[in-house]
Amino acid sequence: MLLLNVMENNQAGLYIHFPFCLSKCGYCSFYSISSIHLIPEFVKTVSREMAFYKKSFQSFDTIYIGGGTPSLLSIQQIDDILKSANGIFNIDQQTEITMEVNPGDVSLEYFQQLRKQGINRLNIGIQSFNDSILKFLGRRHSAEESAAAMDGARQAGFDNVGIDLIYSVYGQDMKTWEETLNKALSFSPEHLSCYQLSLGEKTPLYKKYRKENLQLPAENEALDFFMTTSRILTNAGYIHYEVSNFARTVSLKSRHNMKYWRHAPYLGMGPAAHSFDGENRWWNTADVEAYLKTIDEGKKPVNRSENLTQEQLALEALFLGMRTKDGIDLEQYKTRYGSDLLTEKSLIINELIKNELVELKGGRFYPTVAGMAVADSLALI
Ligand code: SF4
Repeated sequence: MLLLNVMENNQAGLYIHFPFCLSKCGYCSFYSISSIHLIPEFVKTVSREMAFYKKSFQSFDTIYIGGGTPSLLSIQQIDDILKSANGIFNIDQQTEITMEVNPGDVSLEYFQQLRKQGINRLNIGIQSFNDSILKFLGRRHSAEESAAAMDGARQAGFDNVGIDLIYSVYGQDMKTWEETLNKALSFSPEHLSCYQLSLGEKTPLYKKYRKENLQLPAENEALDFFMTTSRILTNAGYIHYEVSNFARTVSLKSRHNMKYWRHAPYLGMGPAAHSFDGENRWWNTADVEAYLKTIDEGKKPVNRSENLTQEQLALEALFLGMRTKDGIDLEQYKTRYGSDLLTEKSLIINELIKNELVELKGGRFYPTVAGMAVADSLALI
């Protein structure tokens, strides 16, 4: 029953994880490998994987090709993937189709071809407009290539372009970060994602920090970066609609990513991709070769799955909602999860309001900007 309600209210999103990168950035915890000779087989196989879900996920209104580095795909391969998706599922006419691109890979012609394929939203992994920071992060493109990529995207006619940036990098002071933000703003992107650098223990950059005794910014410095980012971008007219995300208008929020924060269903294809149907979550094996082999044997490449209890779903929804400016609609929350937050958590909610970390208005419970800075702990109420 719950699943049905979710499906009725929230159209599902399709995510395709392209698990290849030419080289590994020092901070990266995403699953990707450099064996690009496997790309053609991956493209064929991902279509077969989609076919497994023809009955359980029938239609989508967002598609997100992420990775990895999807801009390593040829136009023909993108065409193959999108044709398969269209052949297997009902893809809404107005579907938001996003592709992540690396500024080092793209040309005007590539962008023009992407548009012809139906890609209508780009997410460009610029990370910084400072070459020393890019080098430190292990990115394989320059600030100049990023600027050229932005120009190329505009020239090709893309009118929905997002830029990814990273702050709190060693050697990056506020001035350097503000220069990057201002340079990004000079392209008037429709969307900006600004992430604080976080280092998984297995990443080369984490090992470098340990070995060379480099300091991560103290909590108050990181907060300073967060609040400055929010101030600069909101002053420039952007909506700070999620902890790390800013959109020029409400309709330019990432529709696909909103599904994750709103607890809507999504289907993830490709190695390491996660899926959620409203009650169950499952994720694929994080190994390209095992992924290809399993599908070749006619089986789903699912590594693990979990059935979420009503309590877990409620907690997750709170955790996700507290990351967004919209927060939680209390009535909907009660209907969907059977939990009345205002009654059950009145003491702590009043305390959070007093500390100006959350607000309660129009039947919604949502974080202030200061609250978003500590969003994860707000969900522990
Ligand atoms: S390009 Fe993206 S996915 Fe690939 S290694 Fe760098 S951060 Fe990771």
